[in-house]
Amino acid sequence: MINPSFKKINLKAYKPGRSIIKRSNSVIKLSANESALGISDRAKKVLKTFNSNISKYPDGKFKDLINAISKKYNCDGSKVICGAGSDEIIQMLCQLFLNNRDEVIVPQYSFLMYRIYAKIVGAKIIYSKENNFKISIKEILKKVSKKTKIVFLANPNNPTGTYISKNELLELRKKLRQNILLVVDDAYFEYMLNKDYKSGLDLFKNKSNVFILRTFSKIYGLAALRVGWGYGDRKIVKELYKIKPPFNVNKIAQACAKESLKDIKFLKKSVNHNIFWCKRIKKEFEKYKITTNSIGPNFFLLNFNKCKFSADKVEKKLEKYGIILREMKSYGIKNCLRLTIGNKSENLFLINKMKSIFKYV
Ligand SMILES: *Cc1c(COP(=O)(O)O)cnc(C)c1O
Repeated sequence: MINPSFKKINLKAYKPGRSIIKRSNSVIKLSANESALGISDRAKKVLKTFNSNISKYPDGKFKDLINAISKKYNCDGSKVICGAGSDEIIQMLCQLFLNNRDEVIVPQYSFLMYRIYAKIVGAKIIYSKENNFKISIKEILKKVSKKTKIVFLANPNNPTGTYISKNELLELRKKLRQNILLVVDDAYFEYMLNKDYKSGLDLFKNKSNVFILRTFSKIYGLAALRVGWGYGDRKIVKELYKIKPPFNVNKIAQACAKESLKDIKFLKKSVNHNIFWCKRIKKEFEKYKITTNSIGPNFFLLNFNKCKFSADKVEKKLEKYGIILREMKSYGIKNCLRLTIGNKSENLFLINKMKSIFKYV
């Protein structure tokens, strides 16, 4: 039998943080930066009482959701587009902007979907070095060439957990050639209380060469519903609507996302929970000479270089107890693991099992 010929895409398929372990049915999944507290009560209520007609297509223009977004963030609704996760917006941006052999700059350790979608449309991926697991705007600027079309970055960055300051981000935009699109991914901005931090949306609301990404998959806990949004120049957004599959975000996702935005209490609770447990866990891990990024998003990059056990060893031992962390080899980071902050009982279980592994009394 013969396959009709297709393009050869030189990359590995994205491997999400694992959610199952062989021979174990109860697992604690701390590998994918998901919400520690599940979803808001308002979203729960939507799920329970949802009675809209699902035999009819969803709103492909997201009218209600975009209204809620533009009210909450005081931004222009005609500059918003929604996607099946912010993933889909990344994909659409790559389709719109990139031709064969165009160049895309991504930080050395960054969210894998930027390079995957860029590569699929034939772009060349250029990696900019980081300093001590922090994005360096100097290194990004060094990599700019005539062919550069897009610079992608997440702030705070995943998987390193570090962030660049408001001033650094502004400086990057200022020094980057005007016709290069800067994509700022705000996936974890809600968690950030650091004084020198500002989200991409706050900084670049009216810039025609910056595109912002937001998601409901992280603090809002709607990862399984697949909903995110993008914000940028009206002309860009208009073109993206041509590329977009007509009914890409389903009705339930749109309704839950809209209600979630209104649940300020849930958001506050999540942020407070995160800070409390980040502090506690960081302190705990210091006992074992495991170092981390400073407190910010809902995860830590754990570095085992000074620890008596390797990342591999601790990963396997935790797995025996049913706790899954994210391995970092697929990101090219040696001897590290990424840990998501869980709920209270998950965090206590983790702390307890670390004590057993290190025989700490
Ligand atoms: C998790 C994450 C996303 C969100 O992806 P969705 O497709 O919205 O679920 C986007 N960017 C970064 C950096 C992330 O870590």
